[in-house]
Amino acid sequence: MRRLVRPLVLSVLAASCGAALAATPAASDQPQGKLPRWAMPESYQLAFKVDPKQQDFTGTTSIKLKLEQASDHIWMHGRELKVSKVTITDAKGKTHAGKYVEAAPKEGVVRIDLGGTMQPQELSVAIEYTAPLNQQLQGLYKVSHEGQPYAMTQMEPISARFAFPGFDEPSFKTTFDLKLTIPTDEVGIANTKQLKEEKAGAGWKTLTFATTQPLPTYLVAFGVGPWDVVNGPTIPASEYRKQATDLRGIAAKGEGHRMQHVLGETPSIIKALEDYYGFGYPFDKLDLLAAPDFSAGAMENPGLVTFRDWLLLLDKDSAAQYVRGSFNVTAHELAHQWTGDTVTMGWWDDLWLNEAFATWMQQKVTQKVHPEYRADLDRVRGAQGAMNGDSLVSTRKIRQPITGNGDIETAFDGITYQKGAAVLGMFEGYVTEPVFQKGMRGYIQEHKLGNATAEDLIDSIAKAADKGEDFKNAFKSFLNQPGVPYVQTKLAQEGGKTVLHLSQSRYLPLGSTGDANHLWGVPVCVRYATTDGSKVACELLDKAQGTMALPGATAQSWVMPNANGSGYYRFSMDKGDLAKLGKQIGKLADAEQLAYGDAVNAAFRRGDIDAGSALAALKPLTASKVREVSTAPMNTFGWIYDQVAVTDAQRAKLVAWAKSSYLPELQNLGYKRKDGEPDGDSLQRATLANFLGLDVKLPEVRAELLKQGDAVLKGKADGSLDFAAADSNLLGSALGVAVQEHGKSAVDALMAQLPKVSDPAQRNAILAGLAEADDATQAERVRDLSLDKSVKVGEMAALLRGNRDTQAGRDAVWKWSVTNYDKIVARTGSFAGGRLPGLMGGGGCSKAEADRLQEFFKTRAKDVTGAERGLAQNTEATLLCSALKAKQDPAAILR
Ligand SMILES: [Zn+2]
Repeated sequence: MRRLVRPLVLSVLAASCGAALAATPAASDQPQGKLPRWAMPESYQLAFKVDPKQQDFTGTTSIKLKLEQASDHIWMHGRELKVSKVTITDAKGKTHAGKYVEAAPKEGVVRIDLGGTMQPQELSVAIEYTAPLNQQLQGLYKVSHEGQPYAMTQMEPISARFAFPGFDEPSFKTTFDLKLTIPTDEVGIANTKQLKEEKAGAGWKTLTFATTQPLPTYLVAFGVGPWDVVNGPTIPASEYRKQATDLRGIAAKGEGHRMQHVLGETPSIIKALEDYYGFGYPFDKLDLLAAPDFSAGAMENPGLVTFRDWLLLLDKDSAAQYVRGSFNVTAHELAHQWTGDTVTMGWWDDLWLNEAFATWMQQKVTQKVHPEYRADLDRVRGAQGAMNGDSLVSTRKIRQPITGNGDIETAFDGITYQKGAAVLGMFEGYVTEPVFQKGMRGYIQEHKLGNATAEDLIDSIAKAADKGEDFKNAFKSFLNQPGVPYVQTKLAQEGGKTVLHLSQSRYLPLGSTGDANHLWGVPVCVRYATTDGSKVACELLDKAQGTMALPGATAQSWVMPNANGSGYYRFSMDKGDLAKLGKQIGKLADAEQLAYGDAVNAAFRRGDIDAGSALAALKPLTASKVREVSTAPMNTFGWIYDQVAVTDAQRAKLVAWAKSSYLPELQNLGYKRKDGEPDGDSLQRATLANFLGLDVKLPEVRAELLKQGDAVLKGKADGSLDFAAADSNLLGSALGVAVQEHGKSAVDALMAQLPKVSDPAQRNAILAGLAEADDATQAERVRDLSLDKSVKVGEMAALLRGNRDTQAGRDAVWKWSVTNYDKIVARTGSFAGGRLPGLMGGGGCSKAEADRLQEFFKTRAKDVTGAERGLAQNTEATLLCSALKAKQDPAAILR
């Protein structure tokens, strides 16, 4: 069923008084937010003439639309399009000359004057135009690989308007017919299968692609260039899909052969998704494209999913993080083919219907296909990361009202993805997996190839679970208000029974100006000891206080207040209860150990416990054999190491803590990957070596990394760097230590090599190594490099993330950013706006740093889309850090 909000009342009005021209809306009806619904697109025909070697492209867009009220104009979107001709064809086939007026050029709102008032009817609007190939990775943009240019698209969220005029909002789902006229020696690809190829004059050919399923503009995709196209295994037909589906890999010339690994994984991902949703992959083919430069990680365009190249180009000895990252991101994007592409959010305030679901589903698929990847623990860690951001007063809600384009662009954050996924997982755990699945299947069936809202989703789940308003309100309490619930528990014996007293408020860290007085409908699930093993009890806590019966528990029982770590809440416990739980840590499930670690971190950030107590409480986790658990304390440790230690003795105590926690395991793993070792070992080696070598700076670890870094820098006979001389998992850390130890000579060598290296993993390692430059002169050179053409736009942030752990380093980053602000904005464009304040002032920990950030952006934030939210969040995080730092007694480290 296709759901669109049609203005029925308006149609009636138009019919009754449409003849009176006075009813014609004047141009003063310019939309401030969504476009009006009285002009509804029904289908598009898009034709582009693109040569990636040129600076501009030309296009013709014909839109069939239904005018549902009398009007002499319609409202649409378009940005930076030079329109030469507008032709309106009315229902009788008569043509009229129209006019294209840029009403709000910055927002991309345009008015098409129809050449006179038209009554409600079907119209066709044809617009001919020229536009630049975008240089900032938006719309139809240009990139190059080894000197050869390519053109490709990134439309989400609101960049389709750079590529073609249209109704650039997600609820306008229509079919698209696409023709590409391109140089004869190039390859064109699009969402659907190519139907034919025709000559189009000397040196040109025209490709015609099959009509798409109904899509919103943000999912239209195509690419032109000398691409390699390689076939993957066909995705066999299934119970839910009658025909086999063709699968291909697309990559820059010469790179196609490196896609076989990911193509080999893809059919099993599709199978897992079809089995879950009971709904077959609905598009006519599937291409995965490795983009030479890309603003996001990947984009779920139906039939033509695009990725940053390093996510798809893998070799036998690729680092484990790339192999895993490739699988996880592929699973995420393919999950979108159902949630996002088949069922699309109605408006950007429900972006979570796309992103939270893809994140949550990806974890499910990964758990099924690669259980050793421990996606269950990734989910918990992702949720905990989101809780840190969600503790800010300036955080977003999952369903944040959209008040402008900036809100659309900043909606792609940890709240939408990780908090959203965690909230889904929590309610899934509460109603049970099979019931939740039944609800999801109903939701997909009911809204397939159309749009949906949060209400639709919650109704489907509530129906499957046979739950009423309490459940729906509980679900909505997590979507429509910001923040993290803080659940406090205390065991008691009452009337011969063991009960758990619960209370809730909003979790707020020390120094927060927020109001703790918030209520959620929290599905609280606790694990507790009985004489008969541990049990789980659940209760929907939707008042400030509550009591939960724990059948079988005794006065001696321990309680873990977040069973399976699946609740999106933080907890604190009565002291005696905590002591009993503390003795159980090693016996709890891995996810519960992570929940315990979060409780310690939460208490520390509230100022309830000092640094020494926090490290003592976290220490048992470091003994875990599970990577995700043993490394969980690193963040809290890192903060204490950077912000609290003052004297040599305090620093030495911290170094000893880190060394005893992690060095034996690193030595046991060794510094080179062993043949056939589990990839978890490779990842652990990389994490431990980076932490001990670059954060804690243990000499013995640095010496090992330096050996490998030097071997790379020594180079091969032809003068190029010898990347194979280091373990691929340690490459970035090894180059980082080399840069710190050798300074200029190492920086020179890496900078000289960068323009000659096209392999994305090698490029990333060079960038990571350079970002570690800590000598003032060399660090400044590295920052300057980020503005150089040899660095891709999508690579800039990697170079600028260094030097955040000392005041002097942050001051230097700040000074450079202020000096080069205009150049940074010119290179990154508006989509990076929300990230700009963090790029410049991230990691700050004093009021002075918060003040200078505010002062600088006071007049500028409004000019860069999304910067206002980024500014508020970075300022608040800086002030909170400052407050927590002021509370610390460094002597506590030694106690
Ligand atoms: Zn996504």
